[in-house]
Amino acid sequence: MYKPILGIEVHVQLKTKSKMFCSCPNDPDERYPNLLICPTCFGHPGVLPVINQEAVRKVIKTGLALNCQIPEHSKFERKNYFYPDLPKGYQISQLYQPLCKDGYLEIEGKKIRIREVHLEEDTGKLVHPEGTDYSLVDFNRAGIPLMELVTEPDINSAKEAREFAEELHLIMHYLDVSDADMEKGEMRVEVNVSLSKKEGKPAPYRTEGSGAGLGTKVEIKNLNSFRSVERAIEYEIKRQTEILDRGEKIIQETRGWDDIRGTTVSQREKEEAHDYRYFPEPDLPPLHHLKEFIKEIKAEIPELPQQRRERLKREYELDEKMVAETSSHLPPRSASRSSAIEIFVYNKALGEYFEKVVSEFEPNLPREKLFKLIKLATNYLITDLQGLLKGASVTGDDFLITPENFAQFITLIYEGRISSKIAKMVLGEMFKTGADPSHIIEEKGLIQITDEAEIEKIVKEVISKNQKAVKDYELGKANAFQYLIGQIMAKTRGKANPQIVKDILSKTLTP
Ligand SMILES: [Zn+2]
Repeated sequence: MYKPILGIEVHVQLKTKSKMFCSCPNDPDERYPNLLICPTCFGHPGVLPVINQEAVRKVIKTGLALNCQIPEHSKFERKNYFYPDLPKGYQISQLYQPLCKDGYLEIEGKKIRIREVHLEEDTGKLVHPEGTDYSLVDFNRAGIPLMELVTEPDINSAKEAREFAEELHLIMHYLDVSDADMEKGEMRVEVNVSLSKKEGKPAPYRTEGSGAGLGTKVEIKNLNSFRSVERAIEYEIKRQTEILDRGEKIIQETRGWDDIRGTTVSQREKEEAHDYRYFPEPDLPPLHHLKEFIKEIKAEIPELPQQRRERLKREYELDEKMVAETSSHLPPRSASRSSAIEIFVYNKALGEYFEKVVSEFEPNLPREKLFKLIKLATNYLITDLQGLLKGASVTGDDFLITPENFAQFITLIYEGRISSKIAKMVLGEMFKTGADPSHIIEEKGLIQITDEAEIEKIVKEVISKNQKAVKDYELGKANAFQYLIGQIMAKTRGKANPQIVKDILSKTLTP
Protein backbone atom coordinates (compact mmCIF):
# COMPACT_ATOMS: atom_id res chain seq x y z
CA MET A 1 0.00 0.00 0.00
CA TYR A 2 1.20 3.48 -0.84
CA LYS A 3 0.16 6.92 0.20
CA PRO A 4 -1.08 9.18 -2.63
CA ILE A 5 0.55 12.60 -2.72
CA LEU A 6 -1.50 15.02 -4.78
CA GLY A 7 -1.01 18.63 -5.78
CA ILE A 8 -3.43 20.71 -7.78
CA GLU A 9 -3.01 23.51 -10.29
CA VAL A 10 -6.06 25.49 -11.25
CA HIS A 11 -6.43 28.03 -14.04
CA VAL A 12 -9.42 30.35 -13.85
CA GLN A 13 -10.57 32.90 -16.41
CA LEU A 14 -11.41 36.08 -14.58
CA LYS A 15 -14.65 37.96 -15.15
CA THR A 16 -13.57 41.43 -16.33
CA LYS A 17 -14.87 43.86 -18.94
CA SER A 18 -11.68 43.89 -20.97
CA LYS A 19 -8.68 41.65 -21.58
CA MET A 20 -5.58 41.59 -19.39
CA PHE A 21 -3.39 44.08 -21.24
CA CYS A 22 -5.62 45.78 -23.84
CA SER A 23 -9.15 47.10 -24.18
CA CYS A 24 -10.53 44.20 -26.24
CA PRO A 25 -13.73 42.86 -24.62
CA ASN A 26 -13.36 39.79 -22.41
CA ASP A 27 -16.32 37.80 -23.70
CA PRO A 28 -15.88 34.01 -23.49
CA ASP A 29 -19.27 33.55 -25.16
CA GLU A 30 -18.38 35.30 -28.43
CA ARG A 31 -19.26 32.79 -31.15
CA TYR A 32 -17.43 34.35 -34.07
CA PRO A 33 -13.70 33.65 -34.18
CA ASN A 34 -11.02 36.34 -34.22
CA LEU A 35 -13.40 39.21 -33.59
CA LEU A 36 -12.05 40.33 -30.21
CA ILE A 37 -8.48 41.07 -31.18
CA CYS A 38 -6.17 44.07 -31.55
CA PRO A 39 -2.47 44.80 -32.20
CA THR A 40 -1.76 44.76 -28.44
CA CYS A 41 -3.03 41.26 -27.72
CA PHE A 42 -1.16 40.18 -30.84
CA GLY A 43 2.06 41.78 -29.61
CA HIS A 44 2.65 43.74 -32.80
CA PRO A 45 5.74 45.94 -32.90
CA GLY A 46 5.34 49.30 -31.21
CA VAL A 47 2.33 48.46 -29.03
CA LEU A 48 2.40 48.63 -25.23
CA PRO A 49 0.39 46.50 -22.82
CA VAL A 50 -1.45 48.15 -19.91
CA ILE A 51 -2.25 46.21 -16.71
CA ASN A 52 -5.94 45.61 -16.08
CA GLN A 53 -6.45 46.81 -12.50
CA GLU A 54 -9.72 44.92 -12.08
CA ALA A 55 -7.92 41.63 -12.80
CA VAL A 56 -5.25 42.45 -10.20
CA ARG A 57 -7.97 43.25 -7.65
CA LYS A 58 -9.76 39.96 -8.36
CA VAL A 59 -6.63 37.89 -7.87
CA ILE A 60 -5.78 39.68 -4.62
CA LYS A 61 -9.38 39.25 -3.47
CA THR A 62 -9.15 35.51 -4.13
CA GLY A 63 -5.79 35.37 -2.35
CA LEU A 64 -7.17 37.14 0.71
CA ALA A 65 -10.16 34.77 0.81
CA LEU A 66 -7.65 31.89 0.74
CA ASN A 67 -5.64 33.27 3.68
CA CYS A 68 -2.69 34.25 1.47
CA GLN A 69 0.06 36.77 2.14
CA ILE A 70 -0.06 39.67 -0.29
CA PRO A 71 3.54 40.84 -0.80
CA GLU A 72 3.96 44.59 -1.21
CA HIS A 73 5.71 44.17 -4.55
CA SER A 74 4.80 42.09 -7.51
CA LYS A 75 5.88 41.93 -11.16
CA PHE A 76 5.33 40.25 -14.49
CA GLU A 77 7.66 38.04 -16.53
CA ARG A 78 7.71 36.86 -20.09
CA LYS A 79 7.44 33.13 -20.51
CA ASN A 80 8.83 32.28 -23.93
CA TYR A 81 7.64 29.34 -25.94
CA PHE A 82 6.32 28.76 -29.40
CA TYR A 83 2.84 27.45 -29.93
CA PRO A 84 0.35 28.21 -32.73
CA ASP A 85 -2.26 29.63 -30.33
CA LEU A 86 0.22 32.05 -28.77
CA PRO A 87 0.33 35.03 -31.11
CA LYS A 88 3.20 36.84 -29.39
CA GLY A 89 5.50 33.84 -29.07
CA TYR A 90 5.51 34.49 -25.33
CA GLN A 91 2.97 34.68 -22.53
CA ILE A 92 3.02 37.40 -19.88
CA SER A 93 2.94 35.59 -16.55
CA GLN A 94 4.42 35.77 -13.06
CA LEU A 95 7.23 33.60 -11.77
CA TYR A 96 9.34 35.33 -9.12
CA GLN A 97 6.92 37.70 -7.39
CA PRO A 98 3.35 36.40 -7.60
CA LEU A 99 0.48 38.53 -6.35
CA CYS A 100 -0.40 36.12 -3.53
CA LYS A 101 1.50 33.39 -1.71
CA ASP A 102 1.47 31.06 1.31
CA GLY A 103 -2.25 30.64 1.86
CA TYR A 104 -4.47 27.70 2.69
CA LEU A 105 -7.96 26.35 2.23
CA GLU A 106 -9.53 24.14 4.86
CA ILE A 107 -11.29 21.00 3.64
CA GLU A 108 -13.14 19.06 6.33
CA GLY A 109 -10.91 20.57 8.99
CA LYS A 110 -7.65 19.87 7.12
CA LYS A 111 -5.52 22.71 5.83
CA ILE A 112 -4.47 22.37 2.21
CA ARG A 113 -1.62 24.84 1.72
CA ILE A 114 -1.69 27.13 -1.28
CA ARG A 115 1.77 27.93 -2.58
CA GLU A 116 0.76 30.88 -4.71
CA VAL A 117 -1.91 32.59 -6.79
CA HIS A 118 -0.66 34.56 -9.75
CA LEU A 119 -1.93 36.40 -12.78
CA GLU A 120 -1.22 35.72 -16.44
CA GLU A 121 -2.93 35.91 -19.81
CA ASP A 122 -4.77 33.13 -21.57
CA THR A 123 -3.75 31.76 -24.97
CA GLY A 124 -5.90 31.45 -28.07
CA LYS A 125 -7.70 28.25 -28.95
CA LEU A 126 -6.99 25.67 -31.63
CA VAL A 127 -10.01 24.22 -33.36
CA HIS A 128 -9.78 20.88 -35.14
CA PRO A 129 -12.77 20.56 -37.53
CA GLU A 130 -13.87 16.97 -37.76
CA GLY A 131 -12.95 15.10 -40.92
CA THR A 132 -10.37 17.65 -42.08
CA ASP A 133 -6.61 17.54 -42.10
CA TYR A 134 -6.09 21.08 -40.88
CA SER A 135 -6.54 23.07 -37.66
CA LEU A 136 -7.95 26.55 -37.20
CA VAL A 137 -6.99 29.08 -34.61
CA ASP A 138 -9.28 31.48 -32.74
CA PHE A 139 -7.55 34.31 -30.89
CA ASN A 140 -10.62 35.69 -29.08
CA ARG A 141 -9.37 34.04 -25.90
CA ALA A 142 -5.77 35.27 -26.27
CA GLY A 143 -5.09 37.83 -23.55
CA ILE A 144 -8.07 37.07 -21.29
CA PRO A 145 -6.93 37.47 -17.67
CA LEU A 146 -6.11 34.07 -16.23
CA MET A 147 -5.54 33.36 -12.56
CA GLU A 148 -3.33 30.40 -11.69
CA LEU A 149 -3.42 28.78 -8.27
CA VAL A 150 -0.93 26.14 -7.15
CA THR A 151 -1.29 24.04 -4.01
CA GLU A 152 1.40 22.28 -2.03
CA PRO A 153 1.19 18.46 -2.29
CA ASP A 154 -1.05 18.26 0.77
CA ILE A 155 -3.92 16.31 -0.74
CA ASN A 156 -4.05 12.58 -0.10
CA SER A 157 -7.14 11.22 -1.81
CA ALA A 158 -9.28 11.62 -4.91
CA LYS A 159 -12.22 12.69 -2.76
CA GLU A 160 -10.17 15.36 -1.03
CA ALA A 161 -9.00 16.71 -4.40
CA ARG A 162 -12.57 16.89 -5.64
CA GLU A 163 -13.74 18.64 -2.49
CA PHE A 164 -10.89 21.14 -2.79
CA ALA A 165 -11.86 21.94 -6.38
CA GLU A 166 -15.55 22.21 -5.46
CA GLU A 167 -14.88 24.52 -2.53
CA LEU A 168 -12.58 26.70 -4.61
CA HIS A 169 -15.27 26.92 -7.27
CA LEU A 170 -17.81 27.96 -4.65
CA ILE A 171 -15.50 30.62 -3.23
CA MET A 172 -15.00 32.12 -6.68
CA HIS A 173 -18.76 32.37 -7.07
CA TYR A 174 -19.10 34.07 -3.69
CA LEU A 175 -16.34 36.51 -4.61
CA ASP A 176 -17.81 36.97 -8.09
CA VAL A 177 -14.35 36.80 -9.65
CA SER A 178 -15.25 34.19 -12.26
CA ASP A 179 -18.15 32.09 -13.51
CA ALA A 180 -15.63 29.23 -13.41
CA ASP A 181 -17.72 26.99 -15.66
CA MET A 182 -15.58 23.87 -16.04
CA GLU A 183 -17.37 22.63 -19.14
CA LYS A 184 -16.62 25.90 -20.89
CA GLY A 185 -13.00 25.77 -19.81
CA GLU A 186 -13.35 28.81 -17.56
CA MET A 187 -11.88 26.71 -14.76
CA ARG A 188 -9.23 24.13 -15.71
CA VAL A 189 -7.86 21.69 -13.18
CA GLU A 190 -4.61 19.77 -13.43
CA VAL A 191 -3.53 17.24 -10.86
CA ASN A 192 -0.08 15.93 -10.00
CA VAL A 193 -0.21 12.39 -8.74
CA SER A 194 2.61 10.52 -7.10
CA LEU A 195 2.79 7.69 -4.58
CA SER A 196 4.90 7.50 -1.48
CA LYS A 197 5.48 4.79 1.10
CA LYS A 198 2.64 4.54 3.59
CA GLU A 199 4.89 5.39 6.50
CA GLY A 200 7.73 7.81 6.76
CA LYS A 201 8.49 11.01 4.95
CA PRO A 202 6.44 12.01 1.97
CA ALA A 203 8.27 11.77 -1.31
CA PRO A 204 9.82 15.05 -2.43
CA TYR A 205 7.66 17.11 -4.74
CA ARG A 206 8.59 17.84 -8.35
CA THR A 207 11.40 15.31 -8.47
CA GLU A 208 12.59 14.49 -11.91
CA GLY A 209 12.08 10.75 -11.62
CA SER A 210 13.52 9.12 -8.53
CA GLY A 211 15.28 5.75 -8.61
CA ALA A 212 12.76 3.55 -6.87
CA GLY A 213 9.84 4.94 -8.81
CA LEU A 214 8.30 6.32 -5.66
CA GLY A 215 7.54 10.03 -5.76
CA THR A 216 7.66 10.29 -9.53
CA LYS A 217 5.09 12.83 -10.49
CA VAL A 218 2.53 12.29 -13.21
CA GLU A 219 0.52 15.26 -14.35
CA ILE A 220 -3.09 14.77 -15.46
CA LYS A 221 -4.75 17.28 -17.76
CA ASN A 222 -8.15 17.65 -19.51
CA LEU A 223 -10.23 17.43 -16.37
CA ASN A 224 -13.40 19.28 -17.20
CA SER A 225 -15.69 18.28 -14.36
CA PHE A 226 -15.41 17.63 -10.62
CA ARG A 227 -16.35 14.05 -11.27
CA SER A 228 -13.53 13.56 -13.74
CA VAL A 229 -11.06 15.03 -11.22
CA GLU A 230 -12.07 12.32 -8.77
CA ARG A 231 -12.23 9.49 -11.31
CA ALA A 232 -8.92 10.34 -12.98
CA ILE A 233 -7.07 10.39 -9.67
CA GLU A 234 -8.62 7.09 -8.59
CA TYR A 235 -7.58 5.54 -11.88
CA GLU A 236 -4.08 6.97 -11.72
CA ILE A 237 -3.50 5.79 -8.14
CA LYS A 238 -4.51 2.30 -9.20
CA ARG A 239 -2.32 2.39 -12.33
CA GLN A 240 0.76 3.57 -10.43
CA THR A 241 0.21 1.07 -7.60
CA GLU A 242 0.12 -1.79 -10.11
CA ILE A 243 3.34 -0.59 -11.78
CA LEU A 244 5.16 -0.34 -8.46
CA ASP A 245 3.83 -3.73 -7.33
CA ARG A 246 5.29 -5.29 -10.47
CA GLY A 247 8.64 -3.78 -9.48
CA GLU A 248 8.62 -1.42 -12.45
CA LYS A 249 9.32 2.30 -12.60
CA ILE A 250 6.85 5.10 -13.05
CA ILE A 251 7.70 7.43 -15.90
CA GLN A 252 7.41 11.13 -15.32
CA GLU A 253 4.95 12.30 -17.92
CA THR A 254 1.82 14.25 -18.75
CA ARG A 255 -1.32 12.20 -19.18
CA GLY A 256 -4.73 13.20 -20.44
CA TRP A 257 -8.03 11.95 -19.04
CA ASP A 258 -10.30 10.02 -21.37
CA ASP A 259 -13.72 10.45 -19.80
CA ILE A 260 -15.45 7.90 -22.02
CA ARG A 261 -12.96 5.07 -21.52
CA GLY A 262 -12.34 6.10 -17.91
CA THR A 263 -8.56 5.96 -18.28
CA THR A 264 -5.58 8.30 -18.35
CA VAL A 265 -3.58 8.30 -21.57
CA SER A 266 0.06 9.26 -22.01
CA GLN A 267 0.40 12.55 -23.86
CA ARG A 268 4.07 13.34 -23.59
CA GLU A 269 7.03 12.21 -21.57
CA LYS A 270 8.90 14.96 -19.87
CA GLU A 271 12.62 14.36 -20.16
CA GLU A 272 13.46 17.60 -18.42
CA ALA A 273 11.82 20.83 -17.42
CA HIS A 274 11.07 23.22 -20.26
CA ASP A 275 13.34 26.16 -20.64
CA TYR A 276 10.93 29.03 -20.90
CA ARG A 277 13.70 31.66 -20.67
CA TYR A 278 11.68 33.71 -18.22
CA PHE A 279 12.75 37.33 -18.11
CA PRO A 280 11.22 40.51 -16.70
CA GLU A 281 8.48 41.92 -18.91
CA PRO A 282 10.15 45.13 -20.08
CA ASP A 283 6.93 46.85 -21.12
CA LEU A 284 5.20 46.65 -17.73
CA PRO A 285 6.11 48.50 -14.54
CA PRO A 286 6.45 46.48 -11.33
CA LEU A 287 3.46 46.70 -9.00
CA HIS A 288 3.62 48.27 -5.57
CA HIS A 289 0.52 47.56 -3.56
CA LEU A 290 -0.33 50.25 -1.11
CA LYS A 291 -1.76 49.15 2.23
CA GLU A 292 -4.87 51.20 1.51
CA PHE A 293 -5.43 49.30 -1.73
CA ILE A 294 -5.30 45.93 0.03
CA LYS A 295 -7.52 47.23 2.82
CA GLU A 296 -10.10 48.35 0.31
CA ILE A 297 -10.17 44.91 -1.34
CA LYS A 298 -10.38 43.19 2.03
CA ALA A 299 -13.48 45.20 2.85
CA GLU A 300 -15.17 43.91 -0.31
CA ILE A 301 -14.88 40.26 0.68
CA PRO A 302 -18.35 38.92 1.53
CA GLU A 303 -19.23 36.15 3.94
CA LEU A 304 -17.48 33.05 2.57
CA PRO A 305 -18.97 29.56 2.24
CA GLN A 306 -17.34 28.14 5.38
CA GLN A 307 -18.41 31.14 7.47
CA ARG A 308 -21.92 30.76 6.12
CA ARG A 309 -22.00 27.04 6.99
CA GLU A 310 -21.02 27.80 10.56
CA ARG A 311 -23.47 30.67 10.91
CA LEU A 312 -26.42 28.70 9.48
CA LYS A 313 -25.70 25.91 11.90
CA ARG A 314 -25.37 28.27 14.86
CA GLU A 315 -28.28 30.61 14.16
CA TYR A 316 -30.86 28.20 12.79
CA GLU A 317 -29.66 24.92 14.30
CA LEU A 318 -29.93 23.31 10.89
CA ASP A 319 -29.31 19.62 10.90
CA GLU A 320 -26.25 18.72 8.87
CA LYS A 321 -27.74 15.34 8.13
CA MET A 322 -31.04 16.58 6.76
CA VAL A 323 -30.86 15.53 3.14
CA ALA A 324 -33.08 16.68 0.32
CA GLU A 325 -35.23 14.03 -1.31
CA THR A 326 -35.09 15.73 -4.67
CA SER A 327 -31.36 15.82 -4.92
CA SER A 328 -31.59 15.75 -8.71
CA HIS A 329 -31.64 19.54 -8.64
CA LEU A 330 -28.29 19.60 -6.96
CA PRO A 331 -24.91 19.70 -8.60
CA PRO A 332 -23.26 16.30 -8.85
CA ARG A 333 -21.46 16.49 -5.53
CA SER A 334 -20.80 13.71 -3.10
CA ALA A 335 -23.99 12.61 -1.37
CA SER A 336 -22.61 13.51 2.06
CA ARG A 337 -22.70 17.15 1.04
CA SER A 338 -26.35 17.44 0.04
CA SER A 339 -27.54 18.40 3.52
CA ALA A 340 -29.77 21.42 4.11
CA ILE A 341 -26.76 23.50 5.11
CA GLU A 342 -24.83 22.51 1.98
CA ILE A 343 -27.81 23.30 -0.22
CA PHE A 344 -28.21 26.75 1.32
CA VAL A 345 -24.47 27.38 1.01
CA TYR A 346 -24.16 26.07 -2.53
CA ASN A 347 -27.39 27.69 -3.70
CA LYS A 348 -26.57 31.09 -2.23
CA ALA A 349 -29.79 32.72 -3.48
CA LEU A 350 -31.94 29.98 -1.92
CA GLY A 351 -30.01 30.35 1.35
CA GLU A 352 -30.63 34.08 1.37
CA TYR A 353 -34.32 33.49 0.63
CA PHE A 354 -34.48 31.03 3.53
CA GLU A 355 -33.13 33.69 5.88
CA LYS A 356 -35.67 36.22 4.63
CA VAL A 357 -38.49 33.71 5.22
CA VAL A 358 -37.29 33.09 8.77
CA SER A 359 -37.16 36.83 9.45
CA GLU A 360 -40.88 36.98 8.55
CA PHE A 361 -41.88 34.70 11.41
CA GLU A 362 -43.17 36.57 14.41
CA PRO A 363 -40.20 37.74 16.44
CA ASN A 364 -41.64 36.94 19.86
CA LEU A 365 -42.48 33.31 19.27
CA PRO A 366 -41.46 30.80 21.91
CA ARG A 367 -38.07 29.35 20.98
CA GLU A 368 -39.37 25.81 20.51
CA LYS A 369 -42.12 26.90 18.13
CA LEU A 370 -39.75 29.11 16.15
CA PHE A 371 -37.31 26.25 15.57
CA LYS A 372 -40.14 23.96 14.51
CA LEU A 373 -41.19 26.57 11.95
CA ILE A 374 -37.60 26.90 10.75
CA LYS A 375 -37.31 23.17 10.29
CA LEU A 376 -40.58 23.02 8.41
CA ALA A 377 -39.56 25.92 6.18
CA THR A 378 -36.21 24.23 5.48
CA ASN A 379 -37.99 21.05 4.45
CA TYR A 380 -40.36 22.76 2.07
CA LEU A 381 -37.58 24.88 0.57
CA ILE A 382 -35.16 22.05 -0.15
CA THR A 383 -37.72 19.54 -1.37
CA ASP A 384 -41.03 20.91 -2.70
CA LEU A 385 -39.88 24.36 -3.72
CA GLN A 386 -36.66 23.09 -5.35
CA GLY A 387 -38.81 20.58 -7.20
CA LEU A 388 -41.01 23.36 -8.58
CA LEU A 389 -38.04 25.55 -9.44
CA LYS A 390 -36.40 22.78 -11.51
CA GLY A 391 -33.01 24.41 -11.24
CA ALA A 392 -34.26 27.99 -11.74
CA SER A 393 -33.32 30.60 -9.16
CA VAL A 394 -35.47 32.30 -6.54
CA THR A 395 -33.92 35.55 -7.75
CA GLY A 396 -35.39 35.11 -11.24
CA ASP A 397 -38.06 37.53 -12.48
CA ASP A 398 -40.66 34.79 -12.79
CA PHE A 399 -40.31 33.66 -9.19
CA LEU A 400 -43.38 35.18 -7.55
CA ILE A 401 -43.51 33.90 -3.98
CA THR A 402 -42.55 36.62 -1.51
CA PRO A 403 -40.72 35.56 1.68
CA GLU A 404 -43.71 36.91 3.62
CA ASN A 405 -46.14 34.62 1.79
CA PHE A 406 -43.83 31.66 2.17
CA ALA A 407 -43.59 32.26 5.92
CA GLN A 408 -47.38 32.47 6.11
CA PHE A 409 -47.68 29.24 4.15
CA ILE A 410 -45.37 27.46 6.63
CA THR A 411 -47.36 28.85 9.56
CA LEU A 412 -50.60 27.49 8.06
CA ILE A 413 -49.07 24.01 7.89
CA TYR A 414 -47.64 24.28 11.38
CA GLU A 415 -51.00 25.29 12.83
CA GLY A 416 -52.70 22.36 11.12
CA ARG A 417 -54.92 24.57 9.01
CA ILE A 418 -53.87 22.76 5.87
CA SER A 419 -52.77 19.14 5.50
CA SER A 420 -49.46 18.27 3.89
CA LYS A 421 -51.32 17.03 0.83
CA ILE A 422 -53.19 20.30 0.46
CA ALA A 423 -49.94 22.16 1.16
CA LYS A 424 -48.46 20.80 -2.05
CA MET A 425 -51.43 22.15 -4.03
CA VAL A 426 -51.25 25.52 -2.31
CA LEU A 427 -47.53 25.84 -2.94
CA GLY A 428 -48.03 24.93 -6.59
CA GLU A 429 -50.65 27.66 -6.90
CA MET A 430 -48.44 30.19 -5.10
CA PHE A 431 -45.61 29.32 -7.46
CA LYS A 432 -47.85 29.82 -10.50
CA THR A 433 -49.62 33.03 -9.51
CA GLY A 434 -47.74 34.52 -6.55
CA ALA A 435 -51.02 34.64 -4.63
CA ASP A 436 -51.30 34.85 -0.88
CA PRO A 437 -51.70 31.33 0.63
CA SER A 438 -54.66 32.25 2.84
CA HIS A 439 -56.48 33.65 -0.20
CA ILE A 440 -55.85 30.42 -2.09
CA ILE A 441 -57.22 28.18 0.63
CA GLU A 442 -60.22 30.43 1.20
CA GLU A 443 -61.04 30.78 -2.46
CA LYS A 444 -60.71 27.05 -3.15
CA GLY A 445 -62.21 25.93 0.16
CA LEU A 446 -59.08 24.04 1.18
CA ILE A 447 -59.05 24.70 4.90
CA GLN A 448 -58.46 21.52 6.81
CA ILE A 449 -61.49 20.00 8.51
CA THR A 450 -60.69 19.54 12.18
CA ASP A 451 -64.25 19.66 13.51
CA GLU A 452 -64.71 16.24 15.13
CA ALA A 453 -68.49 16.20 14.82
CA GLU A 454 -68.23 16.88 11.09
CA ILE A 455 -65.62 14.18 10.62
CA GLU A 456 -67.64 11.70 12.68
CA LYS A 457 -70.61 12.25 10.40
CA ILE A 458 -68.52 11.46 7.33
CA VAL A 459 -66.95 8.43 9.01
CA LYS A 460 -70.39 7.00 9.74
CA GLU A 461 -71.50 7.58 6.17
CA VAL A 462 -68.46 5.82 4.77
CA ILE A 463 -68.85 2.90 7.16
CA SER A 464 -72.46 2.33 6.20
CA LYS A 465 -71.58 2.34 2.50
CA ASN A 466 -68.58 0.02 2.86
CA GLN A 467 -69.84 -2.92 4.90
CA LYS A 468 -67.56 -5.37 3.13
CA ALA A 469 -64.46 -3.45 4.17
CA VAL A 470 -65.78 -3.28 7.73
CA LYS A 471 -66.18 -7.10 7.73
CA ASP A 472 -62.66 -7.48 6.37
CA TYR A 473 -61.40 -5.23 9.12
CA GLU A 474 -63.14 -7.34 11.72
CA LEU A 475 -61.48 -10.40 10.19
CA GLY A 476 -58.14 -8.74 10.82
CA LYS A 477 -57.25 -7.48 7.36
CA ALA A 478 -55.07 -4.46 8.00
CA ASN A 479 -55.45 -2.89 4.58
CA ALA A 480 -59.22 -2.64 5.06
CA PHE A 481 -58.58 0.12 7.59
CA GLN A 482 -56.38 1.99 5.11
CA TYR A 483 -59.04 1.55 2.47
CA LEU A 484 -61.69 3.16 4.72
CA ILE A 485 -59.37 6.07 5.50
CA GLY A 486 -58.82 6.54 1.78
CA GLN A 487 -62.60 6.67 1.25
CA ILE A 488 -63.03 9.29 3.99
CA MET A 489 -60.18 11.44 2.67
CA ALA A 490 -61.59 11.21 -0.85
CA LYS A 491 -65.00 12.30 0.39
CA THR A 492 -63.48 15.38 2.03
CA ARG A 493 -61.23 16.00 -0.98
CA GLY A 494 -58.16 15.55 1.18
CA LYS A 495 -59.19 18.23 3.62
CA ALA A 496 -59.91 16.17 6.73
CA ASN A 497 -57.18 16.14 9.33
CA PRO A 498 -55.72 12.63 8.86
CA GLN A 499 -54.93 12.10 12.56
CA ILE A 500 -58.47 12.92 13.66
CA VAL A 501 -59.88 10.69 10.91
CA LYS A 502 -57.73 7.81 12.11
CA ASP A 503 -58.74 8.28 15.75
CA ILE A 504 -62.46 8.54 15.05
CA LEU A 505 -62.46 5.64 12.60
CA SER A 506 -60.71 3.26 14.98
CA LYS A 507 -62.96 4.36 17.85
CA THR A 508 -66.07 3.79 15.73
CA LEU A 509 -64.93 0.37 14.45
CA THR A 510 -63.94 -0.97 17.88
CA PRO A 511 -66.65 -0.01 20.29
ZN1 LIG B 1 -6.57 43.27 -27.67
